[in-house]
Amino acid sequence: ISHEDFRQLGYKMIDAIVDYRSNIEKHPVRSEVAPGYLAEKLPESAPTQPEGLDAILSDVQTHIMPGITHWQHPSFFSWYPANSSYPALLGDMLSSALGVVGFAWIGSPAATELETVTLDWLARFLRLPNAFLSTGTTGGGGVIQGTASEAALVALLAARARPLDGRDPGADGPRLVAYTTDQAHSCVKKACAVAGIQHLRLLPTSAERGWALDPATLEAAMTADEGHGLMPFFLTTLIGTTSSAAVDPVAELAAVARRHGAWVHVDAAYAGVFACLPDQHDLYFQGLEGVDSFSTNPHKGMLVTFDCSALWVQNSFWLRTALSLEPQFQFAGLRHAAEHLDYKDWQVPLGRRFRALKLWFVLRMYGTERLQAYLRHHLDMAKALAQLVEADPAFDIIATPRFGLVCFAPRGASEEESTALLERVNASGRTFMVHTRLGGRHVWRLAVGGVHTQWRHVEEVWALVQKVVGGGEA
Ligand code: PLP
Repeated sequence: ISHEDFRQLGYKMIDAIVDYRSNIEKHPVRSEVAPGYLAEKLPESAPTQPEGLDAILSDVQTHIMPGITHWQHPSFFSWYPANSSYPALLGDMLSSALGVVGFAWIGSPAATELETVTLDWLARFLRLPNAFLSTGTTGGGGVIQGTASEAALVALLAARARPLDGRDPGADGPRLVAYTTDQAHSCVKKACAVAGIQHLRLLPTSAERGWALDPATLEAAMTADEGHGLMPFFLTTLIGTTSSAAVDPVAELAAVARRHGAWVHVDAAYAGVFACLPDQHDLYFQGLEGVDSFSTNPHKGMLVTFDCSALWVQNSFWLRTALSLEPQFQFAGLRHAAEHLDYKDWQVPLGRRFRALKLWFVLRMYGTERLQAYLRHHLDMAKALAQLVEADPAFDIIATPRFGLVCFAPRGASEEESTALLERVNASGRTFMVHTRLGGRHVWRLAVGGVHTQWRHVEEVWALVQKVVGGGEA
């Protein structure tokens, strides 16, 4: 493909992307294909001779699109959003074109340094404590991981590398205990499995406490474990749980964990970006000075196309101790010099894409005020929806609506009825929601946060839900 060919193909691809995005509402939100649908539609082997873009795009329309669940559809309300914007697309395109692998500073200095700068920008935007900035005095800073699961894993590995009571916790492996809540994302369990941590306490929460962890429960668990000769070393606390957007009392939990010598990680994968809104910050993001690491996904609600999960640590020394294959002692407690900032030592893989570009493009092309307005818009729509749900006697609100999430259930419906009703709503193709389980009840989750979602889309889905639950056709 010559440079000039690419110019023409690139224009064509952009046209195809804009056609798709501007007509996205014509698609059913959820794909309805059966598993294995694709293999029989495509040749058994790759072509021996080159094929043109037109032929490929035609197959995209015919074979790929039916198997797409349209995450960027304005009526997609499932899981949490993974919104994708034109500025992020432009940044990602440039990243692909540069094709650098910035595992070490020398691999492409700008890839490393732009990541440090943009994560400092993002930390200031979210009003994180200074200790999380690369310019702070504790050796802290940010790094882009692929996902919040990777962030939790590397935070756990850093925690394990930090001496407990002056002892190397690695040597006490079988005695180490990690803690989180029964509302935590399964990534905590997976991190423990990968790291070979044998004891993970999924501490109970309750509806009365809004599915948040009671510091007294943590205190009792850590004390009991110590009494049995075990060593608490890692706590994952949640701001915005996957199930219901519950928020743990982070400051109090961190105080307990610190007293027992444990590392405190905050998983705010979805909700963290809402910290840029002053009222949300005041409500939910207090006490972060006392935590060791904090992660949030700009690839969920902040318009940075997947994958872009931000992780900050107050001191990167333990991360580098855990993940570098070179001795780190000479940097102990020091802010790293630029030539030593090799992000391969802050993550599991060696290679890494230039992901900071898409974050930088988003921050620059929207500006912080428009990003705040964008997130506020989602918050307001979710709040207005919650009022509609609350006013309708056919439904119960099941958890306090927070951020963009509303959890509700048809009043009086059995598990089977609720499941069948939700499936009828989704099968209409006009929206897509998933359920969760809270206190044993089947609960519908409606997460507002799509890049193109406007109030009319929320009103439409609510009218659809009312109709189906009222016995009408979808
Ligand atoms: N943690 C929380 C609180 C989440 O809500 C999610 C996903 O929704 C995750 C972790 C996993 O995110 P990722 O796909 O980035 O690993």
